[in-house]
Amino acid sequence: MKEKRNIVWLKRDLRLMDHQPLLQATNEECDYLIIYIFEPCMIIYPDCSTRHLQFVHHSLKDLNEKLAELNRQVHVFHSDAYAVFDWITNQFDIQKVFSYQESGIELTWERDKEIYSLLKEKGILWKEFQRDGVIRGIKDRINWDQQWYAFVNEPILSIPFKKSDKFEVVDHPFPVSKELMEILEYYPDSLQPPGEKMAWKYLKSFCEDRGKNYNRHISKPLESRSSCGRISPYLAWGNLSIRQCVQFVINHPNYAHHKRAFDGLLTRLKWHCHFIQKFEVECSYETHCVNKGYESLEYTNDPKLIVAWKEGRTGFPLVDACMRCLQETGWINFRMRAMLVSVFCHHFDIDWREGVYHLARLFLDYEPGIHYPQFQMQAGTTGVNKIRMYNPVKQSKDHDPKGVFIKKWVKELEKVPEEFIHEPWNLTEIEKTMLGIEINYPHPMIDLEEAGKRARTKIWGHRKDPEVKKESSRIVRTHTRNNSKRSNAQK
Ligand SMILES: Cc1cc2nc3c(=O)[nH]c(=O)nc-3n(C[C@H](O)[C@H](O)[C@H](O)COP(=O)(O)OP(=O)(O)OC[C@H]3O[C@@H](n4cnc5c(N)ncnc54)[C@H](O)[C@@H]3O)c2cc1C
Repeated sequence: MKEKRNIVWLKRDLRLMDHQPLLQATNEECDYLIIYIFEPCMIIYPDCSTRHLQFVHHSLKDLNEKLAELNRQVHVFHSDAYAVFDWITNQFDIQKVFSYQESGIELTWERDKEIYSLLKEKGILWKEFQRDGVIRGIKDRINWDQQWYAFVNEPILSIPFKKSDKFEVVDHPFPVSKELMEILEYYPDSLQPPGEKMAWKYLKSFCEDRGKNYNRHISKPLESRSSCGRISPYLAWGNLSIRQCVQFVINHPNYAHHKRAFDGLLTRLKWHCHFIQKFEVECSYETHCVNKGYESLEYTNDPKLIVAWKEGRTGFPLVDACMRCLQETGWINFRMRAMLVSVFCHHFDIDWREGVYHLARLFLDYEPGIHYPQFQMQAGTTGVNKIRMYNPVKQSKDHDPKGVFIKKWVKELEKVPEEFIHEPWNLTEIEKTMLGIEINYPHPMIDLEEAGKRARTKIWGHRKDPEVKKESSRIVRTHTRNNSKRSNAQK
């Protein structure tokens, strides 16, 4: 007779605390298996990168260290989810499957529908829980804010784990392939370290010390690296829940001392969910303009500019520094992300779809629900947000005045004097000779001023398009919160 089991299916929720599916499974009479699936169709999808997979793998290892004390482990599979569920439901008498709802791209949504049908056919209940206050199936945002505050203020779930009798799945037909395992086992030192333990380390150090300069440094490419929360990969892969973060920050003894700074972070935790909520409602934002009226906009899409941007060789020092830093470390701050997109879509006149996966792969904190709506906001294709064009020279002068960040990442400019670091093309040959320097760095690939002017006329002009206006009303109805007052997560 097959053994009765439930399943907890981990996805972007790689933690053991404040975890509703684990709590539910623990409270059931029937014992459970915890599974994670590396799906080939997801691995080859253009938004996925080695760093994401490595982060997941090492987070799972971290979980397994703790689960070993309970005679448990996350069983890791490498195959399509359908094949895994088909096999596992034949192997065991599976009663129920517990997981979080995934507000992912269309591919994961379609995969989930297939799994749902398979489980239904086999008479197995799949109970999915709301993740971080994001609600499935809503048509507007009426009362969304109130429900979100209620959700994040509910008590943190602690799981009364019980020791299991044995490790359940000793051998299975879908082990992680040798090739994939070799890639997964490595973890670059230059990336933020994965796992629940590290997540707490970052959150605690923000509250204890780093966060006091949060507002002052948030836009600075260098200083923000230590003053920002730096919790984004942990939230994206679920090493932390939003509720854990909100409650930890509010209840921290330093909250009263650094209220403005901490409130700044709390506000952004709500944005995190606000953006994912948009994507939950319309995951077509991965491939289609938020405002369909922008589909008719035409771009030059110069392949030379696309390649230069991706490789950090545009000739604009801050743009190139950001891209190279991202390649190496997986993180840059919000403003620099916005600037990269702005230069790409506006000054370089390239369709946002040509760059969106490139940044998704580089961001260690890639979260579809934030990434696509944010990318489009900066690309100016939502029709409802103020269009900001970031001039990379001005950003450089304002936020990296001495060029310290630039020189760290664009070694070719190391010897350029401070007064020329933002516009090294202004150095004449005579000045270079007098300074005794040679600069092996590209000349800017476009005329910034001219390109800015053209882009403003193009994108602002298009706002008057009747289709854009019609779509804007629809977007406001669907995605705007009824509570327009600025608020923070304490309410
Ligand atoms: C083009 C573009 C793409 C982006 N893609 C992602 C992405 O894939 N994943 C991601 O987590 N963030 C993304 N962001 C938002 C933001 O840049 C990052 O969340 C932030 O830089 C993460 O660093 P932190 O944890 O130190 O943030 P903090 O400033 O310390 O904020 C704390 C948390 O609040 C959330 N948050 C902060 N800013 C925003 C924001 N503007 N919108 C929504 N949530 C926010 C994040 O979860 C973040 O971890 C994107 C921004 C832009 C402009």
